[in-house]
Amino acid sequence: MREWAFSKADGRKLYLYSWDKEPGPLLEDSYRGQPAQAHLRWHPLQQEWVIYAPQRQGRTYHPPRQSCPFCPGGEVPFGDFEIAVVENRYPALSSRPGLAPQPPVPSAPAYGRSEVVIYTANHNGSLARLSQERRRLLVRVWAARYRALYELPEVRYVFPFENRGEEVGVTLFHPHGQIYAYPFVPASIATEAAVFAKQAVLQDLWPRLDPYHVAQRPGFLAFTPPFARFPYEVWIAPEQPHLGPWSFSEAESDAFADLLGEVALRLDGLFSREMPYVMAFHAAPKDAESFHFHVEIYPKLRSRDKQKHLAGTEVGVGIFTAAVLPEEAARLLREAGR
Ligand SMILES: [Zn+2]
Repeated sequence: MREWAFSKADGRKLYLYSWDKEPGPLLEDSYRGQPAQAHLRWHPLQQEWVIYAPQRQGRTYHPPRQSCPFCPGGEVPFGDFEIAVVENRYPALSSRPGLAPQPPVPSAPAYGRSEVVIYTANHNGSLARLSQERRRLLVRVWAARYRALYELPEVRYVFPFENRGEEVGVTLFHPHGQIYAYPFVPASIATEAAVFAKQAVLQDLWPRLDPYHVAQRPGFLAFTPPFARFPYEVWIAPEQPHLGPWSFSEAESDAFADLLGEVALRLDGLFSREMPYVMAFHAAPKDAESFHFHVEIYPKLRSRDKQKHLAGTEVGVGIFTAAVLPEEAARLLREAGR
């Protein structure tokens, strides 16, 4: 994989990635970000940080096709490219977050990074519909971003994710994901890390997961977790524990990419429409010695025209009530058209 690094006119970093193709002709860099003003406030009862990023209220919302910021000539001032990573124009976390105000709880500047990962120069498409070759490149890009962001002294946790579909609040439809690099380890991840330090939970599960299989590639499994919280929730994990995709071999990277593509296609096939979802990468926090990297995908639909809404018990006390049994979800996903 080749990588090119640029500084945009407003100082934000831009990286282009390709197997071997030079990026297209340089265009005028017309997209300017505003200085970030984001900060953290401590939630004294939940014992975790909340991020405040007021400038995100003004972010681009459903722009017309011709002013898509992720098409060539927008955030990426090149006529053509394969995969681009650019610092978010409206960052929640950044290298220059500005001063934190002094509310009556602890606060801190929101140091870190917010990056956008643009999967393709083509406006239409999706993770499911990218070429196999492009998805394989994307896996290398995620690994490269993990490595680069974990090098930053202020970063404690790197989190690639994708929000897909209007139903989960996506405001730009060009195929893309995001990466947040946090100056702390989110509580949910700290819990997972503590569990993995004591027990090989996923490896212990493998032999009993047959009814939950959705798809497989050599060394990788896609399955509905027997304890799924969302209808049709799917996880993808290597059978052997990896701290994160940065330690995948070439063959493992390819297998993971191909399986990701198959799962995305099956989710789209489930209700014969594009499945809105949140896809979350869970890798090890910085300096953790044991973890088992996995991807958690939370589809938003529970039927073709009904959404899973988080309400009273989920929002109020964090307890999920599920209407679809994971073993039934696995069967339907295995049968879903490819
Ligand atoms: Zn676009």
